[in-house]
Amino acid sequence: MKDLIIIGGGPAGVAAGVYAARKRLTATLIAEEIGGQSTVSDGIENWVGTVRIAGEDLKKSFKEHLHAYKQDVLEVIEGDRVESLEKTEGGFTATTRDGKTVTGRAVLLASGAGRKKLLVPGADTFENKGVTYCASCDGPMFSGQDVAVVGGGNAGLETAAQLLAYAKSVTLIHRHASFKGDAITVEKILSHPNMRTVLNAEPTAVLGEKFVNGLTVKDRDSGEETTLPVTGVFVEIGVIPNTDFAKGLVELDAVGRVVTNARDQHTSVEGIWAAGDCTDELYHQNNIAAGDAVKALEDIYQWLMKTR
Ligand SMILES: Cc1cc2nc3c(=O)[nH]c(=O)nc-3n(C[C@H](O)[C@H](O)[C@H](O)COP(=O)(O)OP(=O)(O)OC[C@H]3O[C@@H](n4cnc5c(N)ncnc54)[C@H](O)[C@@H]3O)c2cc1C
Repeated sequence: MKDLIIIGGGPAGVAAGVYAARKRLTATLIAEEIGGQSTVSDGIENWVGTVRIAGEDLKKSFKEHLHAYKQDVLEVIEGDRVESLEKTEGGFTATTRDGKTVTGRAVLLASGAGRKKLLVPGADTFENKGVTYCASCDGPMFSGQDVAVVGGGNAGLETAAQLLAYAKSVTLIHRHASFKGDAITVEKILSHPNMRTVLNAEPTAVLGEKFVNGLTVKDRDSGEETTLPVTGVFVEIGVIPNTDFAKGLVELDAVGRVVTNARDQHTSVEGIWAAGDCTDELYHQNNIAAGDAVKALEDIYQWLMKTR
């Protein structure tokens, strides 16, 4: 039995793998793909210590760092995914799609999340050509332009607030007639002179040639359609955490994120920690995911030593 099973190979999983190996813990890291969500990005400009790194290069550097410890105490299973995780004698057993079983005394859930995609004509075609799912990554590229944000929840409002620093105008498309966020924040954002709202409406198509040049929205009552002349569409309609395999084992919140204690990343089950976008952490960033995993590893190490 290994000391630790790490599920996921994004920044959280990779950070955990490196720290586990350096602490001489025996660990197996299982990841469908090493790299994580941001590796589709052309350039990541906020990974601390690098001014700009292409997603592909970040993926390579993650692999290189992990593989530097492979074949020692760290085993890496790539290209497979965990389908179930259960409590077994003395620890936990993860079973993968390819039928492998791995047992460990402790587990770190680092399986991340996927963004809910905008499912209207054009959204797929223009992804990364004006349609984007990350304001902090891509916002500066839309400096001085007219952009739209789809989604009026907290993430949508926060995205709009961030974009107001760069964009010529920000139009927030919200399905409902009012906002649920706290009144002061909402008022502050909406009162900005460059801010517009289209309430009670939903997008019906993303328009463009090589890049986005418009977004069509439909009023949910009248059915009337309007085209907004925007060059950027920021989608914030929610995330889907990759936690199906942990359902029924650890406590998940209403949208399926692993409930963690922010002090040490521990979950509701002794021996299981979680880090990064699969958790109920408020903010989703590479540095945060890696940092949370490091925090978890420190705690896992202490726990393993105490219970050995
Ligand atoms: C397009 C885009 C651009 C972004 N750009 C930036 C940026 O510039 N800067 C920034 O800080 N943040 C950025 N982010 C956010 C950042 O990517 C995430 O916050 C970060 O990747 C979260 O890391 P994570 O390790 O928790 O999860 P993820 O990156 O989601 O990684 C999850 C890992 O788990 C694996 N996995 C999933 N399910 C299973 C399973 N069942 N079994 C085994 N493995 C599994 C996946 O293959 C992957 O290896 C961006 C996000 C997106 C979508």
